[in-house]
Amino acid sequence: MNEQKTTNNPGIPAGDQGLNGRIALVTGASQGIGRACAIELAKSGATIALAARTVAKLEAVAAEIAAAGGHARSYALDVSSEESIKACAKTILADLGKVEILVNNAGITKDGLTLRMKLADFDDVLRTNLTGAFLLTQAIISSMMKGRWGRVINITSVVGEAGAAGQANYAASKAGLIGLTKSLAREFASRGITVNAVAPGFIQTAMTEELPEAHKAAILAQIPLARYGSDADIAAAVAFLATDAAGYITGHTLDVNGGMYMG
Ligand code: NAP
Repeated sequence: MNEQKTTNNPGIPAGDQGLNGRIALVTGASQGIGRACAIELAKSGATIALAARTVAKLEAVAAEIAAAGGHARSYALDVSSEESIKACAKTILADLGKVEILVNNAGITKDGLTLRMKLADFDDVLRTNLTGAFLLTQAIISSMMKGRWGRVINITSVVGEAGAAGQANYAASKAGLIGLTKSLAREFASRGITVNAVAPGFIQTAMTEELPEAHKAAILAQIPLARYGSDADIAAAVAFLATDAAGYITGHTLDVNGGMYMG
């Protein structure tokens, strides 16, 4: 006899957040926050298209998901290239039929004080973090419109809300993502598509690893919960926003920052 446990939602197995049969695309899924989001969405039953520039790393994440009983495929994508975005979106839609959940997570930093910042470093960060999210959403969202259900989740940052010295390019890109999120939320609400942002605080990943210890200690002192965040903290928020239970939330920026900024 099948003794599968259920949650309060009839028919949904315990531990399952109800994404069975859904198809999700996560950018920057080769490591850090993107990898954690992909794994969490797969645990909830979604099939995952993993995208980033380094396919070998994506294959390792796909293997990890498969070993846990989930489904994932890897796709080479450079979000700073319109050509790459269009080609990748086309391949994923041909392979998987649709994308219902899009997590725009791929991001870079090129820090420097404004007086010394090269235009190329400003442009690169904007193109990757903001224009990339816009173009990929544009390439994917008609697939969600067809099904009259969709979730776009943009990974912004506490820096987009509070600003940070030495990160004018990064802060502008992440603040831009919040404006993009609200505008898309208004445009696509009538199609059953919600668009939200998650704003991580200081999360321990490769991106933050290289910061000087003194700088990290100064940040820690500003976090009421007195610990750095983990990629799992962000993945849990993303997985929640992807569920039907979050269906009345749109245009929102969800802070996951241990209280370091309360907007
Ligand atoms: P990470 O460890 O550096 O990972 C970045 C990911 O983005 C990698 O998978 C990378 O893969 C991918 N990527 C970078 N450029 C790309 C491009 N042009 N096209 C496609 N993929 C690209 O960073 P993370 O800490 O996990 O950060 C993930 C997101 O969270 C970023 O948007 C970041 O701004 C945001 N965030 C992070 C923190 C934090 O404290 N860590 C805080 C707030 C917000 P490839 O190099 O293989 O392409």
